[in-house]
Amino acid sequence: MCTGAATAEMSRSVLQNHVRASGYDMKIETVAVWEWSEKCHPLMVNNLRWCQEVTGFPEHPHMFVDIEALSPSNCYRPGASYKQKKFIIMSSWLQASSPCLSCCEPLCRVPEADFGISGLPCTDMSAAGLRQKRHGPTNSVYMNHAKYNKKMRTPLFIVECTPELDMGMMEDLHSPDYEFYQTFCEPADVGFFGTSRKRTYVFGAHVERTSVLHDPLELHDKVRGVLSRRAQTRPRDYLIATDLEVRMEAQDLCRKRGVRYQETNRDLSYVLTKREGDALREYELEYFRRTGELASHNEDLLVCLGDNPSFSLTWSLNGKVPCYRKGHGLLWSPKYARWVTARERLCSMAWPVLPAIADSLPAPCVGATDIKRASDLAGNAMHFINAGAQQLLGLAAFGPECPMMI
Ligand SMILES: [Zn+2]
Repeated sequence: MCTGAATAEMSRSVLQNHVRASGYDMKIETVAVWEWSEKCHPLMVNNLRWCQEVTGFPEHPHMFVDIEALSPSNCYRPGASYKQKKFIIMSSWLQASSPCLSCCEPLCRVPEADFGISGLPCTDMSAAGLRQKRHGPTNSVYMNHAKYNKKMRTPLFIVECTPELDMGMMEDLHSPDYEFYQTFCEPADVGFFGTSRKRTYVFGAHVERTSVLHDPLELHDKVRGVLSRRAQTRPRDYLIATDLEVRMEAQDLCRKRGVRYQETNRDLSYVLTKREGDALREYELEYFRRTGELASHNEDLLVCLGDNPSFSLTWSLNGKVPCYRKGHGLLWSPKYARWVTARERLCSMAWPVLPAIADSLPAPCVGATDIKRASDLAGNAMHFINAGAQQLLGLAAFGPECPMMI
């Protein structure tokens, strides 16, 4: 379903090539995607095309918009409790067709799938929000996800979310058809020590259609042991922006803020608001207090100017770029006197936005020269390698209960 602007499909297409090269005939065709964000639709189209370039296999997935359209509209009643909503949605029928952006028909038939991956909403789960968990407004997305899988009897699905995911709700909604296995991972597991982004991946295995071939948690430990020994990034490794890219971002923010752009000034602190400037000074003072050194001497130091440092210090003092949250302000480098560009944020998420990264996959570079496009991608993306590694883990750990059934 929603997969971080197709991060999951992209990373899987790269891995598929590697698996095929090893002699195993892996071929997974994306049959449908659900994406609510309008901003994401053109990104998805481009990224799904990128997948075809990588695998060489043509695909034409349906692009559905609203997962809630899988239930009749009278299922959504304002003020309904979790229990009431669950009863109404789970006992209603699954809509057989849904509006599709990808085909010429206004409605397309919702297909079955053998394998699903979805990044479900974390706004009601994560510590950054109100932590309403199953009682929050996003619960209907989880209900429709569960209803689809139960009615379609999807053999295996994966859900990506923040570690605070309400597993009680997952079990309550999918019971008794699924058994769950849960991993907790972060970019350091796959070599990206310089990025902080803790996530959980939940594997839902259908009790009648799927069997466990290997212990997924044991496999997970093995995979991360190998990958984390291969590379250890630092925040400075992500600062790859060209001078032109920095200037384009500076011009854009100047225009938005009504600040006069200074062509020859490479110190972008003049673009900061007073509040951001105050926050920066507070971070710098705190850094000096703790280390006895100037913040501007540390290449790996990045500070989040969207946060109030007297309340919480969101910075990379521990060697990890803080987790990005949408609309959460600039990530500032005191050393380079500029903020981290959107393409750099993608780089820290292992996206192939640099020839060096793309060549190592190997795959074509993902276009991120357009700063708005890069920013939309960075705001929606999953960590590229973790999204791929966890899918491969699921596909390796589970198999059909009876091969003839799939
Ligand atoms: Zn369609």
